[in-house]
Amino acid sequence: MVEHRIVAIPELREAGDIEEKGRFQGLPRTYIPNRNMIFYSMAASYAEEAGSDYIIGGHNAEDLNVFADAQPEFFRNFQTTLWSASKFLRNTRTTILRPLQHMSKSEVVARALRLGVPLGLTWSCHKEGNTHCWECEGCKGRISAFRLARIEDPLRIVPSQKKV
Ligand SMILES: [Zn+2]
Repeated sequence: MVEHRIVAIPELREAGDIEEKGRFQGLPRTYIPNRNMIFYSMAASYAEEAGSDYIIGGHNAEDLNVFADAQPEFFRNFQTTLWSASKFLRNTRTTILRPLQHMSKSEVVARALRLGVPLGLTWSCHKEGNTHCWECEGCKGRISAFRLARIEDPLRIVPSQKKV
């Protein structure tokens, strides 16, 4: 069974929206304090509920250069914490996998294209809405990744350019 859950966490704020910005120097405005601890804890809760063997994260090599909570050390320690926190996860050896951790964003886009991933259904924008804003950090990163991969982003093709 495949289930897609959307969880709202409106209390989390990005560094750019927090008044005391000094302690976030060197981090992108989109950094959310301690986010991977929160996100992976929620994923672990669902993994235990669903009986999953794996928790899969989409961190790429660029994330490892910026975020402490995307480092191998964090995941080694968090894996140990998960197994100490849950008898089920320990007994099933439920494991966190990060298959993209050594790939750049453009390499991820190129791999996705080769695998037939419907890139037109993917979402990169950090803002709410029905369409990408093409101005936030997520959108700028997407534009750059597609450009470096020399792949046309299906979301940026205007209707008159679409092939019939
Ligand atoms: Zn955006």
